Order: sequence, then C-alpha cells, then structure tokens
Amino acid sequence: MMAKTLLILLPIFLPYVCVLGFPKKIPIAGLFDQDEEIQQMFELSVRAVNENEDQELSNVFFEPEIEQIEGDSFEVSSKVCELLDLGIVGVFGPQEKVIAEHVQSICDIVEVPQISVREDLDQSFQPRGIALNLYPHVSSLSRIYYQLVTELKWKSFAILYENTDSLIRMRLLLKRWNTNANSAFIYHLGYGPNYRQGMQEIKTSKDIESIVIDCSYEILEEVLKQAQQVGILSDKYKVIVTSLDLQTLDLEPYQFSGVNLTGIRLIDPEDPTVLQITNRHKNEQENNSSQLRVEHALMYDAVQLFARAFKQLKDATKVNVNKLLKCDGNSRWEHGLSLSNFMRSTEIRGLTGLVKFDRDGLRSNIKLDIVRLTEKKGLIKIGEWNSTAGENIEWFPDISTQKSDSKLNIQNKTFIVLISITAPYSMIKESMDTLSGNERYEGFAVDIIQEISQILKFNFTLQVESSDYGSLKNEKWTGMLGKIMADEADLAITDLTITSQRAEHFDFTTPIMNLGISILYKKPKKAPPSLFSFLSPFSNDVWIYLIGAYVIVSLLLYIIGRICPAEWSNPYPCIEEPEVLENQFSFKNAFWFAIGAIMQQGSEIAPIGISTRMIASCWWFFCLIMVSSYTANLAAFLTVETVTSPFDNVEELVRKKTIKYGAKSGGATLNFFGGNNITLYAEMYKYMMENKKEVLVETNEEGLKKVQRTDDYAFLMESASIEYLIERNCDVTQVGGLLDEKGYGIAMKKNSQYLHSINSAILMLSERGIIQQIKTKWWTQRKGGGICQESAGTGSAERLGLGNVGGVFLVLTVGVALSCVYTIFELLWDVARTSIRENVPFKEELINELKFIVKCSGSKQVRKKSESSSKNENDSTRGCTPPYGFVPTVIRTSPIDNK
Ligand code: GLU
Repeated sequence: MMAKTLLILLPIFLPYVCVLGFPKKIPIAGLFDQDEEIQQMFELSVRAVNENEDQELSNVFFEPEIEQIEGDSFEVSSKVCELLDLGIVGVFGPQEKVIAEHVQSICDIVEVPQISVREDLDQSFQPRGIALNLYPHVSSLSRIYYQLVTELKWKSFAILYENTDSLIRMRLLLKRWNTNANSAFIYHLGYGPNYRQGMQEIKTSKDIESIVIDCSYEILEEVLKQAQQVGILSDKYKVIVTSLDLQTLDLEPYQFSGVNLTGIRLIDPEDPTVLQITNRHKNEQENNSSQLRVEHALMYDAVQLFARAFKQLKDATKVNVNKLLKCDGNSRWEHGLSLSNFMRSTEIRGLTGLVKFDRDGLRSNIKLDIVRLTEKKGLIKIGEWNSTAGENIEWFPDISTQKSDSKLNIQNKTFIVLISITAPYSMIKESMDTLSGNERYEGFAVDIIQEISQILKFNFTLQVESSDYGSLKNEKWTGMLGKIMADEADLAITDLTITSQRAEHFDFTTPIMNLGISILYKKPKKAPPSLFSFLSPFSNDVWIYLIGAYVIVSLLLYIIGRICPAEWSNPYPCIEEPEVLENQFSFKNAFWFAIGAIMQQGSEIAPIGISTRMIASCWWFFCLIMVSSYTANLAAFLTVETVTSPFDNVEELVRKKTIKYGAKSGGATLNFFGGNNITLYAEMYKYMMENKKEVLVETNEEGLKKVQRTDDYAFLMESASIEYLIERNCDVTQVGGLLDEKGYGIAMKKNSQYLHSINSAILMLSERGIIQQIKTKWWTQRKGGGICQESAGTGSAERLGLGNVGGVFLVLTVGVALSCVYTIFELLWDVARTSIRENVPFKEELINELKFIVKCSGSKQVRKKSESSSKNENDSTRGCTPPYGFVPTVIRTSPIDNK
C-alpha cells in the first residue's frame, strides 16, 4: 500500500528530487471556524506553492496543519500550543475576533508570525509584535466612504448601520461632514431578522434621498431585500453599500428598480492576475472571479506572500524550521521576526491587487473600484480610488452614459398613477359586473395613460385621490402633488394645470390639452318682445342715412323737376295752346313720389324728363335693395330669440356688483387671480378671498350646481371643463372669451428620468390625432354629450349697418349727381335755344329762368307766346318725353301778352 502511494506521488515530486534534492517540508498552521471556503482557499494556495506554479518558489514546500476552531479560547490555546510543538513557522487565521486576538498573543510570545485576513476595527491599532493583517485597515476604508459621499455631492444623507463596527467605519464621514448646510441622519438596522423599521423611518422622512448601508456580509442580502420591499431601493434613492463583497451577491432583483446603487470592491474580476489565478484553479474552485469574497481572496494572497517571504528568508540564512516550541513563555523561534519583516517588505500581485505594506505593517497602495448597478450590464466599474495616490476618486467618463441608459428604460416598470374623480377626466365605470383594479375607472385621463403605457410598455396602478390637486401650503404640497412629493405615487393625471409654481417643484409633460379661464353662467333669458323690434334690421346709422337720403332725393326731385323743361306739361290735353304749363313735381308730390317708392306702393306721378327719370330710377333701385335687405333681416330677427345677458366679460361682471363669482378652492384658476398684477384680477382675487365661504367651491361639479341653483352666481373655471359641462347642461353657458392660455400636463417628481420618454409618447399620440379622438369621445359622444344642440332660432341676427348697405347709398348718390349734371346741361341747352329763338340775350334768359325756378311759387307756369311758336310745334316737348304717350299741343304765350 505504502509502495503504491509512493509510486503515485513520484511523478509530482520527481522534479524536486532530481534537481534540488527532496525539499524540506515547512509546517504551517491554518485555523478555521465555520467558513469552509476560506479553508479551501488556504489549501488551494498551499497547493499552488507546493506544485511550484511559480518558479520563484521552487524550493518552498508547505506542510499545512489544519485545525477547526470550535469552543472557547482555552481550547484554542491548547490547540495552538500543540501545533507549536510540531514546529510550525506561521499561523493563518482564525477569523473570529476574540479567538484571533488570543492566538495572536500566543504567537507573539513564541515569535511565530500570525497572518490574519479579517477586518480589524481596532482604532488604536499599532502593529504589535510580528503579526500581519492583509485586510485593508479601517482607517483606509473610512477615507473612501467619506470621499465617495463628498464626490457624489450628497447633501443630506442617512446611515443605516448594523452595529458599533459600522459606526467605526463611518467615523471619518461623520466627523468631517459639514453639518452647517447639510445633515447626516443615523438609523439603526435593528437586530433582525426584521430590519425594516429604520428603513421605514427613512422613507417617511422627506429630506432623505441618499443612504449609506453598512452591515456585515452575512445579513447584507436580507437587508437589501427588505430595503426593496420598503421602497428605499427605488429610483428616488441613491444608495452606497459599504461592503467590499457586494459584487458577490445576486443583484438582479434590484437591477431594474431604478435605484442609484454604488458600491466599492477590492477584487477586480477582470484584472489579468485575478483571471490568471482563477483560471488556473477553475477545476478546484467553483466560484468565478466575480464571486470571490474578499477574505477568501486575502487568504490565498496571504499564503503566497508568506511563501515568498519564506523563500527570501531561506535564501538569506539557513533556516531551522523544525524547532519545537513550547507555550511556556521561554521558547521562541529565532527567525520569526525576520520572516515577518520579509513579509512586510515583499510586494506581490495577488487576487486583491498589489499586496504591499507600509512602515506600520498596514496595507498600502490599496486600489478600490467604485462600482454602480446598471440595468443593462449589472455592476460596472465607474471609478477607481487608490489609498496612496491622493484622496480623489478617478471617475470614468461613461458614468453619464450609464445615467442616460437608465433614462430610456421604462419598460416593465409599474407606476402608481393618481387620478381624481372629475368628469370627464376620470370617472367610476358603471357596469353590471364587479370590476377590480384599473378596470374600475374610465375617462379621458384613464385613456391617455393607457395609450402612453402601451407605447412605453410600462404597467400602472390607478389610485384615486381627492379633488385637491395640489397647492403649496405652509411650505408643503397638498393633495395629489403632495403624494408625488412624498414618493407615494409616481404620476398624476387629471385636469391638472401646468402652473409656474408647480413646474418649479415638479416635472410636467408637454400639455395634453390647451385651455384658458372663462366664465360659466346661467344661459341668458329670452328678452320680452320689443315694441320697436321692427327697427332692428337696420342700425340707427342706417335709419338716419335712409331718412336723410329720402329728404335729399325728394328735394332734388322737386328742384330737378322744376328745371327739367319736359316736366312742364299741358294740364289740359284737349286745349292745344294752353295758357299755362303745369309741373307734376310740386313740393308735396316730390315727397310723395319718393315715399311711394320706399313703401313699394308707387304713385300716380311718373317722371317725364330724362333727368327726373334718372333720379327716379336710382331711387327705385335704392329702395329695392333697402327694402329687400330690411325684409330679409327682419325675417332673421323674428326667428331669433333675443336673449339678454347681464354681462359679456369679466370687466362687466366685476362692474355689475350684483353677481357673485367664485372658483375652485386651491385650484389653478384661483391661483391665477392671486398671482396676477392686473388690477382687475387682483380685485377679483381679493373679493373671492374675502367671501371665501360663499363663493369658493371644492369641485367643478359643486360650482356647476351653484350656478344652476342661484341666479346671481358666476363660476370661473377652465374652458375645457366648461365645454364638457355645456354639452350636457343646457341651462348654462360660457360667457366671454379666455382670460389666459395654459395646458393640462402629467405631473411627476422633479428631474424624473421618465419625463423624456413620456413626452415622446404624448407627442406621438398627438401627432396621430389620438388625443383629439379621445377628447371627442369623452366630450361629445359619451355620457350624454351633444344633448344641448342649439335649437333653430337660438342663433343670432345682426342689425345691418352702414357697412352692409353703404354701397346702395353710393349708387344713389352717384345716380343723383349724374342726374343733376344732366339737368344743368339741359337747362343751359334750353335757355340757349330760347335765347336764340326769342332773340333775347342768353344771360337774361338764364336769369329769368333761374328766377322762376327759385321762386318756387307754384307748379304752374304761364307760357310765353312767340312768333316762332307755331312753327315749332313739333318741338313743343323740347326733347322731353311727354306723359301718357301723346304729344300735348303747347300754346306758347308771352308773359307780357298775358298781362
Ligand atoms: N385644473 C385646476 C388645477 O389644476 C383645477 C380647476 C380650476 O382651478 O379651475 O388646479
């Protein structure tokens, strides 16, 4: 059996035997407690030394003595003494603090180096004796925690700590923290297994958004799990986990929570040395490089360092290794101190980076990676810190890219969306079945968030809030916005107006609807029929002009009638040579003729002369248009109900004083008046605040009821909501235009990473016309929309003004002017002919003629008799058309003969 074993071992040890002779076995001790993996790493590292993986260590061959530490310090010390009796040259472990200190004191006495890989939180640590600890000292680690919090620009933060060890690690951070402008809160995690209390306190404290979690590796996984349950591992928080072993945990459950989680690590799983060592042992070691825990890796490095130091010692002096030591206080190993010094001066690159010590025997040149949990790649390295190269962290440039990565990722998130039961934005769905979840609600806002969620592929839970949308009271946000501020909800969607004050504290999406403030008031009543409603078709101006035109045309007819020779006709057709000629356009007749035309009745008078016919036809045309316009517009006025509104805009409403007005309490409308510099609006705000109880209401619904039930109340509200109400409540209407322009948006926490995605989705919906479709559905189609169609006759009729009929007046004026010109021409022509015929000077004849005309003494003219009269019988009409189709015989008498 023995021979067989030797045969198997021969190939392994042959090289040593052949080249150097059989190496002397160096006994070393490993003291381990429950952690089996640390023991495995010790054995692995010893095997690596013995198998001569590193040529440098060709002459070093360790013989490990492994002891399981159980029981009290007394038992442990007897075990250590037994081991010393075997001539061990180095003791590795144990991990447990009290026992380790006990072992260390024994080793110090016998001057056998004790190598630890445990975190030593002894603040007054001064390297005592020859022991060495590879774990980075707490003074170095506390520097990086401070540095991290400072460089991440945290203002106020909380430390969730497990025990006093945690506070020792955080000592520097607490000590150096500038508490003037910032605050640091300390919360105890509790004693487990429930660690939620401290977390819940952090959550309810509104000031805290940044948390440092410090606890042992053993409870870290549970603490993170409970932190996520409580909600502090969410996108609203920034968290630093102090454990150097964070990377070994499965962080996938937190990867998509949106939390900004930062950690530090000592082992870089991508470091070439780490990869080389883990690859070499991949058959013996299950864990890959990213699952290596710090203490385990340190144990590996500790054995390697010890082997190199021992080799150097061996090369320097002849080492007596088999000296049996007694725990009696008298014996000691003479090379112990030298070996310890060699370890302190030796540098190796191991799993934990560069293993190097300073003069105090503490690890120096510690390189720590700053890691960040990202959705796409899990933990990634975002910076590096070196304990000796200065205080600052060297940040890698792609940290910002990681941030924007997470911005895009909204998929599969579940948001709490606040709604308010306000028609038509969100309403309780009426159904025969019992509905649950989001199914219970319907409305414009519900449809919009549904569409957005389909585009961005997120889930949401609707939560009903009160009618208080949110206003700032005593520095605190109330209502829906208050909930968003307190992180109790993610989004708020309803008729939530984007105001400057709200936008300062919250993020709003681009508007989903545009609107402005207007007035809701009772529909005006029918005016009692007016006695003079027949005057309505024309405006007063037109009536005045019409009368003016009538008078002027009548006068002109009279004058032109007198001038026009054809209008002087024989009153007795049977008398061929009448003594007098008569003119039908007497003063009375001219007025009668004109009025007869307006009244569409005509008169017996028919103009004979061209000029009088010209003026008459212009007047008839004028009357035709005016009468038709009057008739048509009168018809419109008779079918239209005349309504009387007590005011037409806010100015009139305020001036009226008899009508009360109000708005929704705490709403954007009231705030508009409150924050306005315009005197009228400021006055309105003052009035509303002074009469709060009487005029302010809690909901739009209440405002509507108030308007309907009282005769003297006007409700100031937003046009979009007014539009909805007047579609269904036919007794109310919108009065006046819009006082401002604004929009409704979806609110979320300030600097929300989802704003951009939601905005893009809203723009997409609006470009496709979906928002408009949803609006039409809820405003005019569903829930009784469209019942208040305007009935025939409720339209409006406008009085015709000068603008409408001015053209007709113009035509009349031009026609009359032409006729006047023609009459003058005719007069001159006739005077000229008469003056030639009668051989009278033209001037004299003209003066005579004008004198007669202006005398206006009557419509009868005594004809002049002349020689030529009989010869010119045919010319008796002097170019004018006689009436009734016959030519009167004109008896020309001279006025002188007449006498
Ligand atoms: N939309 C308003 C708001 O967001 C409520 C209604 C109003 O004030 O007229 O507060």
